[in-house]
Amino acid sequence: MTPIQALQKYFGYSTFRHEQEAIIQNILKGQDVMALMPTGGGKSLCYQLPAVLLDGLTIVISPLIALMKDQVDSLNVNGIPAAFLNSSLNPEETRVLVNRLRNNEIKLLYLAPERLFSAESKENKESKLIPFLKTLKVAQIAIDEAHCISSWGHDFRPEYLMLAGLKEEFPSVPVIALTATADKLTQKDILEKLNLHKPAIFVSSFNRANITYRVAPKKNSFKQLIAFLNEHKDESGIIYCLSRKSTEALAEDLKDEGFAAEAYHAGLSNEIKARNQEAFLRDDLKIIVATIAFGMGINKSNVRYVVHVDLPKNIEGYYQETGRAGRDGLPSEALLLYSPGDAMKLQAFAKVEGNEQQSRIMLNKLNDMVKYCQLLSCRRQYLMKYFDEEFPAKCGSCDVCLTEYKRFDGTLIAQKALSAVARLNERFGANYVIDFLRGSKSDKIREEHKQLKTYGIGADISKADWQHHIRELISMGYLQTAGDEYPVLKLTAQSTDVLKGGQKVEFIEIEKVEEVHHEENLPYEIPLFNRLREVRRGIAEGENVPAYVIVSDATLQEMATYLPQSLDELRMISGFGDIKLARYGRELLEPVKIYCAEKGLGSKIKQKLPKRERKAKSPGQTKSSSRSNDTKAETFNLYRSGKTVAEIAAERGFTTATIETHLSYYVQNGDLDITEIVPQKKIAVIADAVESYGTERLSPLKEVLGDDYSYGEIKAVIGWMNKGE
Ligand SMILES: [Zn+2]
Repeated sequence: MTPIQALQKYFGYSTFRHEQEAIIQNILKGQDVMALMPTGGGKSLCYQLPAVLLDGLTIVISPLIALMKDQVDSLNVNGIPAAFLNSSLNPEETRVLVNRLRNNEIKLLYLAPERLFSAESKENKESKLIPFLKTLKVAQIAIDEAHCISSWGHDFRPEYLMLAGLKEEFPSVPVIALTATADKLTQKDILEKLNLHKPAIFVSSFNRANITYRVAPKKNSFKQLIAFLNEHKDESGIIYCLSRKSTEALAEDLKDEGFAAEAYHAGLSNEIKARNQEAFLRDDLKIIVATIAFGMGINKSNVRYVVHVDLPKNIEGYYQETGRAGRDGLPSEALLLYSPGDAMKLQAFAKVEGNEQQSRIMLNKLNDMVKYCQLLSCRRQYLMKYFDEEFPAKCGSCDVCLTEYKRFDGTLIAQKALSAVARLNERFGANYVIDFLRGSKSDKIREEHKQLKTYGIGADISKADWQHHIRELISMGYLQTAGDEYPVLKLTAQSTDVLKGGQKVEFIEIEKVEEVHHEENLPYEIPLFNRLREVRRGIAEGENVPAYVIVSDATLQEMATYLPQSLDELRMISGFGDIKLARYGRELLEPVKIYCAEKGLGSKIKQKLPKRERKAKSPGQTKSSSRSNDTKAETFNLYRSGKTVAEIAAERGFTTATIETHLSYYVQNGDLDITEIVPQKKIAVIADAVESYGTERLSPLKEVLGDDYSYGEIKAVIGWMNKGE
């Protein structure tokens, strides 16, 4: 069997992505390989496919049990025998596994590094596992998350250092080291520590074209978050916070607002962690609020958004976390809420006690992260440059590129700021300078400064606007900061020209207008897609695996687009290999046929281009920001056509609460009369409760009103009361 035949048969794709094919050829030739690919770039296929073709066992070193389980599930569903060996197995299960290994019944074996090298007992320091593995025919060793071996990286794991001895134990077995994140220093470290023999090195583009990157100033993060989540109802997402406590608090607050959210952090019991993770994987739980402890082992392909409500510590971590969105190649969002205060807090954390060099590395990394947040140029280009990759100046799908900035003459404002810095002898930080400019009466401003002529000359500009202007002046080079711990503002060589009036300064209007881009994908049948998701969920429950392991959202969306009518046609949809086709083809085809018969539709499979592993969108094709309006509009139209809320919910596969939320939007903008969706009697009661308890939080209202009143009804009445605002 050729690699391409195996790709079709076992994985259901007809073309390789990026450098997968070249990597696989090298492994098949017996050469060592190091492969750098972005998260979601199709890394695991690079060793899973050779594992199928090679005669013998592939050992996969992986840092987390969750990751192993997920991969093993996916492989088994594709008809590839795989297993993991870790502490979750009982002695009987281990015995069965050892027998299967002896009988050559396993193609891939997943292990944690410490497991591989653990001593047999206190007296005998030798590993028991390695001699056993040597009795088997080992054909390939894959080291996943290889950057964990480097203390230069952001995710150093001491147990990975043990892997240095691997090449000695298995000198003739090709080793493939894979990582999704490695700067030059880390790359070099990986090669040296693993002792790879003349490795072929592959660096794929780190660009994730289907993710739209946005950074917003953090003002009222909860409100901002709710607004964002309302645009992403019924989609899966991860929200990252810095502290364990804040994940729990935020998850509770989100639940109060009617969102299906749970917390996840390293301090929770294993039972709760496993339960929340499982529910998330199975789409029962839409939102995970997590610390960085969550996600490394998560292969869930239909995560539609990743939000950072706190500033990440470095670009590597940020990029890896945002990379968990959109692994199915469909449009996805990465939103970061940035506040300079967060940066100050992290500076304190970045110091590693007694290790100045490590502290400096961490502080520099944090600094790069802050710069990213303050960019006025393409964010994707900055990220790509960070990973040593050239990229055009405009990606078309980050907030900077998507924004049409209005500019205005800010020379006078700049002069005020610069002269304040000069008057204060370049010895104070931005906050002090701003308070001084605004003429703050606070005791923090020194008495002698209050006597200066520049004191209070910027009182007409808000604090937030001043912060923005100061940032711009820094990024344009008219101001600079000095000092790590308490950075002060200093003038630059260019400042004098501005102060003397020889240089005009242009600022960007803070109220920005976002362009609307339109979706260029073929339209798909949404009710059918929802029905297919239900069918998939049923299959997944039967097989006891996460839903996306059966087939991805992208595959279902393709089905709902091209409407295949036979197994032969279904074979042309990306993601259906022979095994999946045989196991699940008929069951998934059934709803398509029924739907098409009802609607008088036929197959569109002829319009389909050759299938790729995943569709990656080119820059410039961006997600329509009006999508949430479309889904609301669809609800509204169905409602207008005479259907009840319950009927629409059933048809669209949403909860009634979601449908009511959609409709409350039309109540607020006046297209729908409140009495159409909430009985007259209830309106007065809800309005009363709103008057007395406010609308800050919905859950107290719901509690007061009791079970007879739904969240949807409460929202609708609030919308009605806010009408015209
Ligand atoms: Zn851009």
